[in-house]
Amino acid sequence: MHLSSPSASSVPSHPLAVYGWDAGWEAEFAAHAEQGLLPGRVVRVDRGLCDVVTPAGDVRADTEFVVPRDPMKVVCTGDWVALDPEGGDPRYVRTLLPRRTAFVRSTSSKRSEGQILAANVDHALVAVSLAVDLGRVERFLALAWESGAQPLVVLTKADLVPDPVGLAYLVQDVETAAPGVPVLPVSATTGTGLDAVAAVVSGGTSVLLGQSGTGKSTLANVLLGEDVMRVHAARDVDGKGRHTTTTRNLLALPGGGVLIDTPGLRGVGLWDAESGVGQVFSEIEELAERCRFHDCAHAGEPGCAVLAAIDAGDLPERRLESYRKLMRENQRIVAKTDARLRAEIRRDWKRRGAEGRAAMEAKRGRWRA
Ligand code: GDP
Ligand code: ZN
Repeated sequence: MHLSSPSASSVPSHPLAVYGWDAGWEAEFAAHAEQGLLPGRVVRVDRGLCDVVTPAGDVRADTEFVVPRDPMKVVCTGDWVALDPEGGDPRYVRTLLPRRTAFVRSTSSKRSEGQILAANVDHALVAVSLAVDLGRVERFLALAWESGAQPLVVLTKADLVPDPVGLAYLVQDVETAAPGVPVLPVSATTGTGLDAVAAVVSGGTSVLLGQSGTGKSTLANVLLGEDVMRVHAARDVDGKGRHTTTTRNLLALPGGGVLIDTPGLRGVGLWDAESGVGQVFSEIEELAERCRFHDCAHAGEPGCAVLAAIDAGDLPERRLESYRKLMRENQRIVAKTDARLRAEIRRDWKRRGAEGRAAMEAKRGRWRA
């Protein structure tokens, strides 16, 4: 039990602060507050209903409200919403606050439509273990950039490479696939690097991406601490898939920050991630600007700066192949996708993403001060 202490002034005053509420959301919500609506963050979505944490406790709410047929307006974990202040169970979600970022994946249906997997994520931790598949790393990074979240590569199980020089080489190798992205070696076993990861996730909302077996669950448990592991155990005993707080997909971390872990997010595919792909292969795009032909395909044209860089040993050939593969894959997805929907997504959250990031920068600046 915590009693109020003299240090109480350092505790964020808003009850939703531990769930990521900040000045930006406060401003975004002001008009809804005037109407007497209740703010909340979605911690789980299940068959048209969602669990929402609010200043008045946990609330169950109906999610299909604005344009039910529009997949981009379907509430997802991580969303901030305005709820009816009172009422039965479930209550109604009245408004979805504009998303700062969003992870979207194509559905398996013939005409691909986006499905939002998680919203308002600030940090995307891409877990990579020692048998590094750089193509996979690039794919996850493209997705992370496209979402608007800031990517970070976590090189897990570092204890399995006890030789520091070997580990440094491995980090370097991953860095070639991740320009501009920090690569942090960590070990859940020895604790190496955990402080650095904890520091990143302590601000804002984070997700863990990566192939199965890379140590995501282990890392999540370390970040969440013992309490949550006990909760997981309790849920197993319960065994009925009951709708309780123990099955939240969004959790406040004991050291600050929020972690989202939705079942669908782990095996994500690409979805209209062209700008994300561009960011992952920024060095290729920079080289391409120096090709003689504006529309150079880097396939043997004269004056190709990309091929020249490969010949000179400055660019691994694997990078160009991986870039081509992801671009092709992305073009296929884009071709299948309804143009109107794409335009709407761009308009909707790229702009708001920029605004949100600006608000976040301001917030971070304040915290540092
Ligand atoms: P996930 O599928 O990404 O969630 O991966 P898990 O967290 O389930 O981990 C996969 C395997 O890697 C498990 O057997 C873990 O015990 C092991 N593992 C996770 N983290 C570490 C680590 O830091 N060091 C070592 N040696 N093994 C680890
Ligand atoms: Zn070229």
